[in-house]
Amino acid sequence: MLDAMLESIRHVSQGPVWQPMPDTVRESFRAAPLPVAGQELEALYQQFTATVQPYAVGNRHPRFMGWVHGGGTAQGMLAEMLAAGLNANLGGRDHAPVEVERMVIRWAADMFGFPPDATGVLVTGSSMANFIAILTATRNVANGQALRQQGVGGRKLVGYAGESAHGCVARAFDMAGLGEQALRRVPLDSAFRMDIAALTRMIAQDKAAGYEPFLVVGTAGTVDTGSIDPLNTLADIAAQEGLWFHMDGAFGALARLAPDLAPLLAGLERADSLAFDFHKWAQVPYDAGCVLVREPGRQAAAFAQSLAYLSREDRGLAAGAPWFCDLGPDLSRGFRALKVWFALAGFGTQKLGDVVTQSCTLARYLAQRVQDTPRLELLAPVTLNIVCFRVVVPDVDDLDWLNGELVKDMQVSGIVAPSTTRIGGVLAIRAALVNHRTTEVDINILLETLSSFLDVRLAQVQMIKAMEGVAGA
Ligand SMILES: *Cc1c(COP(=O)(O)O)cnc(C)c1O
Repeated sequence: MLDAMLESIRHVSQGPVWQPMPDTVRESFRAAPLPVAGQELEALYQQFTATVQPYAVGNRHPRFMGWVHGGGTAQGMLAEMLAAGLNANLGGRDHAPVEVERMVIRWAADMFGFPPDATGVLVTGSSMANFIAILTATRNVANGQALRQQGVGGRKLVGYAGESAHGCVARAFDMAGLGEQALRRVPLDSAFRMDIAALTRMIAQDKAAGYEPFLVVGTAGTVDTGSIDPLNTLADIAAQEGLWFHMDGAFGALARLAPDLAPLLAGLERADSLAFDFHKWAQVPYDAGCVLVREPGRQAAAFAQSLAYLSREDRGLAAGAPWFCDLGPDLSRGFRALKVWFALAGFGTQKLGDVVTQSCTLARYLAQRVQDTPRLELLAPVTLNIVCFRVVVPDVDDLDWLNGELVKDMQVSGIVAPSTTRIGGVLAIRAALVNHRTTEVDINILLETLSSFLDVRLAQVQMIKAMEGVAGA
């Protein structure tokens, strides 16, 4: 199994990015009854190779450019194997795997300019990391500790994020019991960054109306365009207004490892908390998100409970408090830290930074090619690794339809897989370059594939118009 998977990773670029799952395969899952008797491992492995492996999402492939997905590494896979073999539970207790996680949290703090005693925890992804940070922020308001007993119902707490903030920020407000409306969405400027004048106006209006502003969420690397909010200004406003400054740096924060891009993130290191992913740009296999909280004690003040059966001792297995279960909602937790350790120590921050630089160089190359191609239009400035563009041709009225169909044509072809988003009301083809395996050749293939599907579509449109002309005559 190990040899076959290593080979499959080695040759991943030779297969399709993605292929639709045949109905028979889908049915094999949907109709399968609960097994009563066990099967041989070999038979299960055969089912895996026949029905699962060929129909995975495809993010290992260098021409997977949809959404923002990391490509994974063979080293990460081996770390997962070792971690599963140990089967450690990192909720707490005194053992080496917990020390590994403490080490990678300390390294993460170092990576982002947080103090060495910042707290943090590895979680599924930035969705959970944002939630933990936002809940921690609610406990930091006046009388915040009482909210843990009484709930937030009696308070009119409100927070702010740009209109381009990730959907998980609004969901965090929902899950924290604040309600999505308590997250004020701040309009963007022409570069798709939070409009600071609008932010200060909204804070003043809320205060005048008796609301209690407690939080501002900046994004470094928005999902739509990769834009970066004005972080230093946000930090200043948060300090003036007494707000918690949280950063969603899900993928973009990693740009701090690239010397040419790090200046774009100036101010990130002033945040009270940061959510980011190791499974995107750092290529750690899914799942591996992380939350950091600057001031020691804040995170535990939001999550720690004292339950008799989890009592902490001075020695023995129950020593070594605080435990990771004091820093988030999970008690039982896997050994994600091992694959993060293998990535940080195996490649070093320099190589990880090189991957970021490479992705952003490719994005600038793609943007330039788009601008040099008559039938293409660039829809947003390229800050990091995301390029939003579209086909514009005179013969087709509904360009949203055309661009949407072209993206589906490309995905179904298995050659290249970008995704879509909406920019300024129009449908954009969106290429997010995250995978360490992607090269300039892959960008050229994206443009060639797009161009040939466009020719096919235009020929169809011409034929339909000609037939309508005949019918009309
Ligand atoms: C991916 C992403 C998230 C969500 O992170 P998950 O790891 O998918 O939970 C949040 N914010 C931004 C900006 C993202 O790119």
